[in-house]
Amino acid sequence: MNVSELRDRFSARFQRTCAVVARAPGRVNLIGEHTDYNDGFVLPIATEQETWVAVAPRKDHAVRAYSTEFDDQRTWPIDGWLADDFPHWTAYVAGVAALLRQRDARLNGFDLLIRSDVPPGGGLSSSAALENAAALALSEMAGISLQPNELIDLSRRAEHDFAGVPCGLMDQSVSLLAEPGCAFLLDCRSREFQHIPCDLGEHVFVVIDSGVRHKLATSEYARRQQECRQAVEYFRRRDTQVRALRDVSLDAVRAHIEQMDPLPARRARHVVSENERTLAAAAALRAADLTQFGRLMIESHRSLRDDYQVSSQELDQLVEIITAVDGVLGARMTGGGFGGCVVALTREASVGRIEQAVRADYDSPPGKAARLHRTHPSRGASVEVSEAT
Ligand code: ADP
Ligand code: MG
Repeated sequence: MNVSELRDRFSARFQRTCAVVARAPGRVNLIGEHTDYNDGFVLPIATEQETWVAVAPRKDHAVRAYSTEFDDQRTWPIDGWLADDFPHWTAYVAGVAALLRQRDARLNGFDLLIRSDVPPGGGLSSSAALENAAALALSEMAGISLQPNELIDLSRRAEHDFAGVPCGLMDQSVSLLAEPGCAFLLDCRSREFQHIPCDLGEHVFVVIDSGVRHKLATSEYARRQQECRQAVEYFRRRDTQVRALRDVSLDAVRAHIEQMDPLPARRARHVVSENERTLAAAAALRAADLTQFGRLMIESHRSLRDDYQVSSQELDQLVEIITAVDGVLGARMTGGGFGGCVVALTREASVGRIEQAVRADYDSPPGKAARLHRTHPSRGASVEVSEAT
């Protein structure tokens, strides 16, 4: 995808030239799962799969939006979008636009075109890519200047309030701020981040989509958050400094595990150990110790499966098949769980063997063969063209 493709598609669709083109990548979390809402650490990369958005201002208050992937065009008044009247994909555009307009009335009507190779619902956060690309393009077009954290919060609020998905900070942050060739270590409490160079040599990260999304995910996520709060309460009664599981040490969890209720205890052990693994993985990456990085991925998967209990039969099967392939250093479920994707670190030369093994041995759901993507750590979002006045 590139600027001239976006320009051409925009002109063909709306019979006018676009004023701004922006892009934002998807993401894969390498390690640090279910740590974000516990004030912990995450270590994602931005993917080379990206969402591009082209826009041009209108004189009226109408929004005309077209998604190339869904081949769907919709029009609504900028202040009059209603969730019930429009397909779900428009929520991301309408949300970003409405929130920008609440901040600054310079944003008027516009024409907008989306073109993306981030598979929607494929676990690479196509939603954050779309929000960020739209937020960058529209703020640039309207001449509204926003700090990175303001853009991240705006994209996230669009996802919460308009699309109805209560997501954490990670997706929008890494999609906006990642640097090419680097993983993005984010402290979800302070929002401080570090770019960790990935010297992968002959290795590569691959993402394998299980093709499965379990419905119980939403209710189970809410239950995990509740169990984490119970664990925090337990430790706060002993130490008033504890605000989140971030503040609890693994030694403390081990010392108390027998006295605690069993579920909060296991959830705490996952979160606290996962924070340690995430920091250790960032250090291993910095030191180009990929063997250690792979080991931590495998431990992370076990902890998510056994202590946090958010894996699924399909994810466990994929991890087992993939880690048995010669040249694979590690694999784990990535994302919230109950289906979704597995991420693996492997010798590049073994990618074909992984594909073969998955094809031969994975019991994929009917009609949904597991898809594999290579993902090189890519750059964060940017404005590519701006003819705004
Ligand atoms: P994920 O972020 O993991 O891909 P989500 O369910 O959070 O999955 O977001 C997917 C939704 O984002 C899609 O159902 C659609 O509403 C929107 N979306 C993603 N890509 C596009 C696109 N190219 N065009 C329009 N909407 C898109
Ligand atoms: Mg999403």
